[in-house]
Amino acid sequence: MYYVIGSGPAGIAAAAALISAGSEVTLLDVGIELDEEREVRRQRMATRDASEWTEEEISSSRAHLEINGELEAKLCHGSDHAYKPAPSATRIDYGSLAVRSSAAKGGLSNVWGAALLPFHQNDTLDWPITMSDLSDSYRAVLQLIPVAGMQDDLRRLFPLYTERLHRPRISAQAESLLADLTRNRAELSRCGVTFGSARLAVRFSGASPSDSCNFCGHCMHGCPRDLIYSSRHTLSELLASGKLKYVPKVVAQMISEQGSRVTVMASVNGCPVQFSGERVFIGAGVFNSTAILLRSLGWHDRPVQISDSQYFVFPLLRVRASSHVDKERLHTLAQVFLEILAPAISPYLVHLQIYGFNDLLADLVKLRLKALWKFFPRDALLGRLLVVQGFLHSGHSGHITATLRRSAEGSVLRLEPVESSDARDRVGRVIQHMRRLSKSTRAVPLASALRIMQPGRSFHCGGSFPMSRSPHDGQTDILGRPFGLNRTHVIDATVFPSIPATTITQTVMANAYRIASQSVGLDQFHQV
Ligand SMILES: Cc1cc2nc3c(=O)[nH]c(=O)nc-3n(C[C@H](O)[C@H](O)[C@H](O)COP(=O)(O)OP(=O)(O)OC[C@H]3O[C@@H](n4cnc5c(N)ncnc54)[C@H](O)[C@@H]3O)c2cc1C
Repeated sequence: MYYVIGSGPAGIAAAAALISAGSEVTLLDVGIELDEEREVRRQRMATRDASEWTEEEISSSRAHLEINGELEAKLCHGSDHAYKPAPSATRIDYGSLAVRSSAAKGGLSNVWGAALLPFHQNDTLDWPITMSDLSDSYRAVLQLIPVAGMQDDLRRLFPLYTERLHRPRISAQAESLLADLTRNRAELSRCGVTFGSARLAVRFSGASPSDSCNFCGHCMHGCPRDLIYSSRHTLSELLASGKLKYVPKVVAQMISEQGSRVTVMASVNGCPVQFSGERVFIGAGVFNSTAILLRSLGWHDRPVQISDSQYFVFPLLRVRASSHVDKERLHTLAQVFLEILAPAISPYLVHLQIYGFNDLLADLVKLRLKALWKFFPRDALLGRLLVVQGFLHSGHSGHITATLRRSAEGSVLRLEPVESSDARDRVGRVIQHMRRLSKSTRAVPLASALRIMQPGRSFHCGGSFPMSRSPHDGQTDILGRPFGLNRTHVIDATVFPSIPATTITQTVMANAYRIASQSVGLDQFHQV
C-alpha cells in the first residue's frame, strides 16, 4: 500500500500517477470542507443567473474590504475554511506573516487564482532535473486540469503541453490592451516583453448551460458553478473510479521508517493512529510538510529557509477607457500575462498578471474617493484601471525562516520574515521599465500606489528541503526523499530548489506526478 498525505494539487497529482501505474493507494487528509449552509447557497446561486441573485446571497458569498482597503484573505463562497488549521496538527505561529497553510479538502486550490504556467528552463538552472524531465508529467497533469488559453506568443517561452484548450472570453479592457500590445509587438519584444492571454485552469464550457460559465464576475469569491479547477474535482473523479481509498479527518504528525516499511503517525479526532505501508508521499503543503519533516527528524531549534517568489501589486492606468465595465458580463480572473526578460532588471523572467474590473476593485475606488465617488465619471476611472500582480524569482526575493520550537502545548513551527532590499530594487526597475514602455502599452504604472508584499504573501513558496543530485543533511534526492530516508517522498514545493516567478502550481503537480511515477518504477524494478 502506498500512502499519500494531502488532497491539494500535489497529493492529487501523486495519487493520479500511482493509480495510473496500477498501484493501491490510500489518501490521508485532514479534509476540512465548506459548511453545509454555504454549499446549499452556492448550489442555489449556480442554477440561477447572476441577475436573479438576492442582495443577501451576493453579500454573504463574497469577501469584503476592511476599513483600510485591505482584503484580509481571499475567501471561498464567503468562507475561510481553506485556511482553518487542522486540529491537533503542529501549530504554526505565523507572527506578522499573512501566508496561511491549508487543511481543506483540495487545499489552497479552493481559493487559488487558477493562473497556469510551467517554469522556464533558464529559471531552474539550480535544479537537479531539467524542464524536459518534467515534460511528460506536465502533459499528464494537464489531462486532469481544464486549461483555458490561446495559441499565442507565450508558447515561445512556455509550451502548452495540451491540445485541449478552452477558449477564454476576454473582457473589453483586456481585448483593448491586447490590441495595443499586438500593434507594438516588435518594440515590446525588443524590450524583452512577451505577452498573451492569461492561461487559466477553468472549464469555461460544460455539457449544459448550468455547467458553463455565464460570466457573472464572481470568480474572486469562488465560482458558484464550481468551474475554477480545484484538486477536489480530481479527488471526486478518482473516488468515482473506485481506485482510490480516501480517509479524511487524519492529521499526519510524523513519519518513521523500519526496513522495507514506513509508518505515518497520525491522529484521528485526537486519538493516535498509525498507517504502515511501502511508501509515503507527503503533500501537506509547504508549511505542514516542513513541520512533519522537522518533527520526524527531531530537528528542534534548527532553522530552515523557505524561499518565496516576491509578490508586488500596482495599478496600471490605460490612456483609453473601456465603457460600462461595471455592467459587462466577464470573468474576473487574470486576463493577460506579460513576461519580462530584461538583463537590466533580472537574469530571470519577471511574471506580471493583469486584471481588469472586478467588484473588489470598485469597492476600493469607492472607499478611496469617499463622497467624491457619486460625482466621479465611473468609466473614466474604472474603464481605464487595470491591476497588475507581479512576481520575481526567489533569487531576488525575501524568504521565511521556519524553526520548530518546543512549547508547553507540544511543538510549534515558528515563521519569521526576512525582507530583501534587492527585491525592492528589482521591483523599482520593473516599474521604470513599464513606464518606459507606456507608449507601446498605452498604459502608465501608478508607482505611488505600488505595494511590495511581505515574504509568503505570494503563496508561491517552498524549498525548505531542496532536491539535489547528491543530497546531504537538510536536502532531498530527486525523488523528494530526505537525506537518510528511503521510503518517504516529499512531493510539494518543499523540495523546490528555487521558486521562479511564473506560477507555481502546475510545476508542483508535475513534479509530484514525476516523483510518484518514478518511485513505483523503483519497486517494480526490485520485484523483477
Ligand atoms: C489566494 C491564493 C491564490 C493563489 N493563486 C495561484 C495561482 O493563480 N496560480 C498558482 O499556480 N498558484 C496559486 N496559489 C498557490 C496554490 O494554491 C498552491 O501552490 C497549491 O495549492 C499548493 O498545493 P499543495 O498540494 O502543495 O498544498 P495545499 O493546496 O496547501 O494542500 C495541502 C493538503 O494537505 C492536507 N494536509 C495538511 N496538513 C496535513 C496533515 N498534517 N495531515 C494530513 N493532511 C494534511 C490538507 O488537508 C490539504 O488537502 C494561490 C494560493 C492562494 C492562497
